[in-house]
Amino acid sequence: MTEPRPEVDVAAPVLEVSDLTVEFRTARGWGVAVDGVDLALRPGRTLAVLGESGSGKSATARAIMGVLPARSGRVSRGQVVLHGRDVLRLPAEERRTVRGAQVGMVFQDALSALNPVLPVGYQIGEGCRVHLGLSRRAARQRAVELLGLVGIPDARRRVDDYPHQFSGGMRQRVMIATALAADPEILIADEPTTALDVTVQAQILQLLAKLQADRQMSLMLITHDMGVVAGMAHDILVMYAGRVVEQGPGDEVFEHPAHPYTRALLDSICTADQKGRPLRVISGQPPDLGNLPSGCTFRTGCPQAADICRTRPPVLQVSHEHFGACHFAGGAS
Ligand code: ADP
Ligand code: MG
Repeated sequence: MTEPRPEVDVAAPVLEVSDLTVEFRTARGWGVAVDGVDLALRPGRTLAVLGESGSGKSATARAIMGVLPARSGRVSRGQVVLHGRDVLRLPAEERRTVRGAQVGMVFQDALSALNPVLPVGYQIGEGCRVHLGLSRRAARQRAVELLGLVGIPDARRRVDDYPHQFSGGMRQRVMIATALAADPEILIADEPTTALDVTVQAQILQLLAKLQADRQMSLMLITHDMGVVAGMAHDILVMYAGRVVEQGPGDEVFEHPAHPYTRALLDSICTADQKGRPLRVISGQPPDLGNLPSGCTFRTGCPQAADICRTRPPVLQVSHEHFGACHFAGGAS
């Protein structure tokens, strides 16, 4: 605490993930679900992680948060560096403390993540007691404040209510309050609006954007819906079959998508809006991660696939800060 601190570079990442590789146990042995992912979260910025179902978004988030299933999931390679320390190599106890205090997470299955038999205020207060060392009474008071902060009307009265007494959107707000309990610098929201209707979706996204800006948090917003990230993402990372296929500043990626898969995601926005339901962007099935094609993993569903895509895996930098893993990125489209 008393050590002199070096000049802080405001753009320095609070979290840097490199070569993250996650495996799950399957009937055929351990199978790779996330393959060498690099990403960085910067203070006060939102990183949207995009990709269709099964592309490894949740597994990436769970590995960062340290909540992979104990027996059937593991990080087999890589680093998760929080403020210069690789949390994967910390002793278990310290690892929990560091992550719990600095990273809050809203899980994909938010509704089942709340305990049905405990009042919401108690569940929110738990994080304050554990990570901030607050007394039971102070934690309850903080829970009321957090409920107010996430837009639950009449928070003082609702703090002792149970999850089932809230609507879906309100429960999602409670989940967000729980994730904010320890006042984290990083908030990971995994498909936070998927189960909600369109109006409530917009309200929850607005809330996340406001919290991110007011508290200058790093927000990692995971979604399969490119429409969700428009106007919200400072940076975008696109995953396909467990790998990063494109990464760059939000407006750059929207205006000049480098990868055919990102272009397909973009094309799907208008179509989905028109029909009022999400659309499968790529024809065919998502790839079998245990049996990926040679060369580019996207080539079997790609309209631009050529011979080189079969023989060589693509790694191509398009411009500073923006790259796409495609042999034709930035060129022959
Ligand atoms: P996304 O969040 O992008 O939809 P996931 O990270 O949940 O994708 O899943 C990535 C891959 O890992 C998928 O092939 C999925 O079947 C597999 N997977 C995820 N969780 C488990 C698990 N607990 N056990 C076995 N396989 C899993
Ligand atoms: Mg998921």
